[in-house]
Amino acid sequence: MKRILILFLLLPLWASCDQEMGTRFVNIGTGGLSGVYYPVGQGLARLLNEGSEGHKVKAAAQSTGGSVFNINAVLSGDLQLGIAQSDRQYQAYYGQAEWEAIGPQLDLRSIAALHPEAVTLVASVDSGIQQLSDLKGQRVNLGNPGSGQLGNARDVLAAFGISEADLDAKQVKAVEAPGLLQDERIDAFFYTVGHPNGNLKEATSGRVKVGILAITGPPIQALISAKPYYAPAQIFRKYYPAAAMPEVVDTVGVKATLVTSAKLDAQLAYQITQLLVEHFEEIKAMHPAFEGLKPESLLEGLSAPLHPGALKYYREKGFKVPERLQR
Ligand code: GLU
Repeated sequence: MKRILILFLLLPLWASCDQEMGTRFVNIGTGGLSGVYYPVGQGLARLLNEGSEGHKVKAAAQSTGGSVFNINAVLSGDLQLGIAQSDRQYQAYYGQAEWEAIGPQLDLRSIAALHPEAVTLVASVDSGIQQLSDLKGQRVNLGNPGSGQLGNARDVLAAFGISEADLDAKQVKAVEAPGLLQDERIDAFFYTVGHPNGNLKEATSGRVKVGILAITGPPIQALISAKPYYAPAQIFRKYYPAAAMPEVVDTVGVKATLVTSAKLDAQLAYQITQLLVEHFEEIKAMHPAFEGLKPESLLEGLSAPLHPGALKYYREKGFKVPERLQR
């Protein structure tokens, strides 16, 4: 009886393993088609597949609702890898925000940090919205429930004493927001994303004149001091020449990270980490949002412990791994 029970407990571990061929399947959760996660996930999947003769991995990236969805999907075993915001990684591991009711997600593991993401506030010029406090009473998309940005929108609004009830708040996917803004069906939207991206290009290059607004001031400084995962961030006009914005817009930001579950096979986690490090220059060239990446930044902004397979690789290569990631 006990043996049968153990067998059932082990079954999910075999689910992503084609026994005949010894090939392991890696599904990577990304975000909306017009964001940065999706092309980055596609690029990582391609790299994993190219080396797949040697290590027998078949990878694919799929479009999802974003960070919160991806974290939950790697924890449930539906996905083997997910891209998720550093703040969402922290909240899941410590049982905050969306995870408050269910508690700390102690099986969450990190593999690496990727590009910086800026909390981006986009508004039509005609709406008269010039700063965050002008959002009151306006039609504002905060983000879909599986996304990372929903939490960031709530955080920055709360910092200014604004609640969702003060707005005509929407919770639709980021991919739909530029169209809604151009159709004048919303006045503004939040998107936490790396720059440049197709979403903001679409939002800023239509008939309706659109601006990217600063998210700054003492309430934001207080937010950055209070939360370990927030840092100042900047968005550059050079990426969106048709936008109404200064050369540089100051805002607050987080980092995109690659997460998995403690249940992922250690050898597979090792291979994925090895790929990130050994193909670093190739990965950097995958997307302009990766421009400032340095090998050591792979370990900056993580809060869930490293997967043991990833940790093994980083140690072997002499990376300085912070103590708290070695649990
Ligand atoms: N940061 C967004 C999220 O977590 C996704 C951004 C992207 O797709 O690039 O939902």
